[in-house]
Amino acid sequence: MEETDAQVNLWLDKLEVEKENAEWRCALIAYVIGEVPGYNYMCRFINRTWENIAEPDIYLHEDGLYVVRFQSLEDMQSVLYYGPHTINNRPIILKQWTADFNFTLDFLTEIPLCVSFPKLPMSCWGGDSLSRVASAIGKPIFANECTSKHSRISFASILIEVNVTKGLPEVVKVMDPNGRQFLQEVEFDWKPEYCPYCMKVGHVCPPPKPNAPPPVPAPSDTPPVAKEKPFMQPKKRRRPQNPIQQ
Ligand SMILES: [Zn+2]
Repeated sequence: MEETDAQVNLWLDKLEVEKENAEWRCALIAYVIGEVPGYNYMCRFINRTWENIAEPDIYLHEDGLYVVRFQSLEDMQSVLYYGPHTINNRPIILKQWTADFNFTLDFLTEIPLCVSFPKLPMSCWGGDSLSRVASAIGKPIFANECTSKHSRISFASILIEVNVTKGLPEVVKVMDPNGRQFLQEVEFDWKPEYCPYCMKVGHVCPPPKPNAPPPVPAPSDTPPVAKEKPFMQPKKRRRPQNPIQQ
């Protein structure tokens, strides 16, 4: 939120603001890469695809983002944790609503992505070790049930909020308590393309030619590269029966 030096004209009621915040705690911001689906289409998609949850309230924000308010925190988490989701083959970026979410930003840079650590040594599967490894990449949000229960041996996956503008690592260097170092491979279920020239997710413009004038940012609805190049498809993941939070 922007602060100014101007004199304050009025004060908002703390209780009411907190009450409103509590009501939006179960909401997700949904951003469809490429094109904003129409409201009725989006509603049909959500009610048909996100099953086993109570019907959420759906709002279209003027900036082309949807806000989906679920009836419970559990419903919200079951959608957020067990993505990635696509609509018409277009990836949907989902982010938890926060009181300071800035709708006027025309791109999202901190995006929750599902990250796996193939062949992570089993000694590192404790919650603390896992979140330390995850913190090398971003802000860990949730560890997949199969990881925390050790029910699958070679697979550890975590939902991590990652800043996509900084480039995503392929390995992280880990040091164990005995001072031994190893390189841990990092795999993303899906990662959005990020254009450093337009500072937007969803496409990448070709690099500017030397001595050429700076590129004109592409309008968000007609990404220049996306036309020839299909969107990278998120892999489907197994949906555990009893999600637990780390
Ligand atoms: Zn671009």
